[in-house]
Amino acid sequence: MNSPAAASISILPDRRDSIARAGEAGNAVACDRGSLAGSVTQRACAFCGSRVVLYPIADALHLVHGPIGCAAYTWDIRGAQSSGPQLFRNSFSTDLQEMDVIYGGEKKLGRALRELIRRHQPKAAFVYSTCIVGLIGDDVSAVCRELSAEFSIPVIPVASEGFKGTKKDGYQAACDAAYRLVGTGDTRDISDRSINLLGDFNIAGESWIIRGYFERLGIQVVATLTGDGRVDDIRRCHGAKLNLVQCSGSMTSLAKRLERDHGIPFQRVSFFGIEDMSAALYGVATFFEDPLLREKTSELVREEIERLMPELREIRTALEGKKAAVYVGGAFKAFSLVRALRTIGMRTAIVGTQTGDRDDYDQLRAMCEPGTLIVDDSNPLELAKFCLEQDVDLFIGGVKERPIAYKLGIGFCDHNHERKEALAGYVGMLNFAREVYASVMSPVWNYTPRRALRLRTAPRENEE
Ligand code: SF4
Repeated sequence: MNSPAAASISILPDRRDSIARAGEAGNAVACDRGSLAGSVTQRACAFCGSRVVLYPIADALHLVHGPIGCAAYTWDIRGAQSSGPQLFRNSFSTDLQEMDVIYGGEKKLGRALRELIRRHQPKAAFVYSTCIVGLIGDDVSAVCRELSAEFSIPVIPVASEGFKGTKKDGYQAACDAAYRLVGTGDTRDISDRSINLLGDFNIAGESWIIRGYFERLGIQVVATLTGDGRVDDIRRCHGAKLNLVQCSGSMTSLAKRLERDHGIPFQRVSFFGIEDMSAALYGVATFFEDPLLREKTSELVREEIERLMPELREIRTALEGKKAAVYVGGAFKAFSLVRALRTIGMRTAIVGTQTGDRDDYDQLRAMCEPGTLIVDDSNPLELAKFCLEQDVDLFIGGVKERPIAYKLGIGFCDHNHERKEALAGYVGMLNFAREVYASVMSPVWNYTPRRALRLRTAPRENEE
C-alpha cells in the first residue's frame, strides 16, 4: 500500500543492511553486532537480560547493586509464576547514591546482603552489577565470597553491567551465574527418562503445561531453568539425561556447558504452535528410543489436537488472508510465530528479532513468503514505517512495541515475558488464536483514522 506517512519516514543509511526481503536475492541480513548509536534500538541492556533470565528462580534472593532506577526498571516485569515461594518478586536494591559513587558501594552491599539473608533465609542469593558499579569498580565478587562463607549459602555475583553489551551478553552473564549452582546437588533418585527444560520461564504457568505433557508420558522433569525455578533443582540438574532448550538465545550456552562437563545432549525446541509443540514431544520420544513411548506420544498429540481443531478452524476462516508484523527477542520464537500464524490463516508480512544471528535470518528468509520484510535490531520509526507500508492487521511483540501498534491503529498481541496469558503448548495455541481473533476483528479499528479512510475510499458492494 502506498502510504504517504510511511514514505515520510526514512531509514538511517547505516541501518539499511539490517533489512532484507524474503524471496529477493541480496546480501545476508547484517546482525549479531552492537546497536547503531542514535537509532533508539528496541533492545534492553545487558543487566535487564540477566535479570529476566534469573528472576524466576523463586526461592533465591535477587539483589540489584546500583541506583534504584535499575531495580525499578526490572521489578516484577516477567509474568513468571511460582508454585511456592514468592521471594523472587521483590526487587531489592542497594539504592546507590552520590556518596556511594564517590566512596564505593561495597560496605553498603555487604550490609544489604546481611540484612536480607537474615530476614528472608533464601536458598541462594544473586547480586546483579549495574552500569554504575562497573564504573566505580566495586569488588562485588569479594563481597559475595565473604557473605557466602558467613551464611553458608551460595551468594553469586552476576556480571551484568548494563553497558557491557546487548541483552544477549546479559543472558550469558546469567548462564555463568546459574552454572555456579549446577553439579552441587544429589542426583541419585533421577530416572533414566529425565529431562531439564531450559529457557522456559513459566510465564502465566506455561512450564506447568509443558511439564504436564512430559509427566503424562512418564518423563521426569528434573529442573526448569528458570520458570518456577528452585535452587535445589538447579543444583542437581546435571543428573538429567536430556536438555530441551526453548529460548535458545538465553540458554544455549548453559546447555553447551552441561553437554561439555556432564555429557548431557540438548535439543533446540519451541513450545509455541501445534507443529513445534508436537515436534518437541516427538523429539524426546525419539531420543529415548522406545516404541511404546513413541506410541504414547502420538496418542497425546492426537488427543490434544482433536480438542482444539474445531475452534481453530472457525477462527482460521475469519482470519484468512490477514497480515501480521512480528518483532520479538529471539529467532526461535519468530519461527514458531510464523508457523502459528499460518495455522490460523494469517500471513507474516514483517518479521524481526533483537538477537537473531546469520543462520536465524537465513532460516526466516527460507520459511517466509516472498516479499516478507526481515529486520534485525529495529527501532520504533522503522517498525512504524514497515507496518504502514505493509498495511498489517496485527502486531505481535512486547511491551515496547504495544504503543507503536496502538498509535497506528493496529491490533496487538503480547508475546513477550510480561504477558499474563499462557501461549505455550496446545492449550496455548488456542489462547493465542482467540487473542489474535479478538484483537484483529475488533470493530474499534474501523474508527481509527487509517482504517476509517480505507473504509471511506473502498468501493461499495455492487459498485463497479
Ligand atoms: S544497568 Fe545501566 S543501562 Fe541498565 S538500567 Fe541500569 S543504568 Fe540503565
